[in-house]
Amino acid sequence: MDSEDIKRLVTGTGAVAVGIAATAPVGLDAESLYLQWIAAGKHGGMSYLEKYQDVRRDPRLLLEGAESIIVAAFNYYNRDNGKLRWARYALGRDYHEEIRERLDAVATAITITSGAQCRVTVDTAPLRERYWAERAGVGFIGINNQLIVPGAGSWCVLGSIITTLPLDADTPSGRSCDGCMRCVRACPGRALDGKGGMDACKCLSYLTIEHRGEYDATPDRIYGCDVCQEVCPHNATAIPTEIGGFSPRAEILGLGCKDILEMEQSEFSRIFTHSAIKRTKLAGLQRNARMLNQGETQPE
Ligand code: SF4
Ligand code: SF4
Repeated sequence: MDSEDIKRLVTGTGAVAVGIAATAPVGLDAESLYLQWIAAGKHGGMSYLEKYQDVRRDPRLLLEGAESIIVAAFNYYNRDNGKLRWARYALGRDYHEEIRERLDAVATAITITSGAQCRVTVDTAPLRERYWAERAGVGFIGINNQLIVPGAGSWCVLGSIITTLPLDADTPSGRSCDGCMRCVRACPGRALDGKGGMDACKCLSYLTIEHRGEYDATPDRIYGCDVCQEVCPHNATAIPTEIGGFSPRAEILGLGCKDILEMEQSEFSRIFTHSAIKRTKLAGLQRNARMLNQGETQPE
């Protein structure tokens, strides 16, 4: 099985873009930016980002003998994000489950046909996914910190297969975003510095999903924030996903603040067990609903 066979297989699972990078330590510039970001505390309470720095630096530590990283992007875009304006990636089935299933099938085919070992990661290992996506020619990282896939935009989740199989590597596209700064101006938390840096402590996505406890901000959305993607011209022609699992669930779209504030744990578990939204836990979601109620929109 060669590089083109594998790309055909990955595309057949629903990916809008796929590329291959040869494993190596990450570049010095990228490494230095990451270390400065951590040292400045801009990762907020996401202490897991401080860990496994050696693995983040060298993906070969994730799989002995790894030669290649296959990176795939899957479109999750949906126009409707519900009464409370949920982050669009979270409205359907949990992307970790949906994408892992798809890439596991490819990894199994690689192992059966070549005997090579594979490890699938979907935001589940200390792998710098956007860096490797850029190296593999899948897209480029915008001023908004999102990976932008030419022709498909940034409404994509990434999944990777690290494998011991040596494959032909792709080259980075060399493209960069337009630098229009719409994302910087529109960011409600002033979290983007206009040079590609982002302070998670000011980001509404971080505050409403990852942060534990109260926060000093007034979100206008219940979970996450899509503003820096909504305003980006690379997303002007975004088309809704064809992946059935990413279709928004009517049950989530229809939720109002009152429903969430009165929600019991059993109901939360029933609705969100197979949704990425479970990450914020019921307490986090109810905190967000209280903060929304204090804002101007006061959605019911
Ligand atoms: S997700 Fe929202 S708050 Fe965070 S950087 Fe983007 S626009 Fe700013
Ligand atoms: S909004 Fe403009 S500056 Fe921001 S990522 Fe998109 S093209 Fe780049």
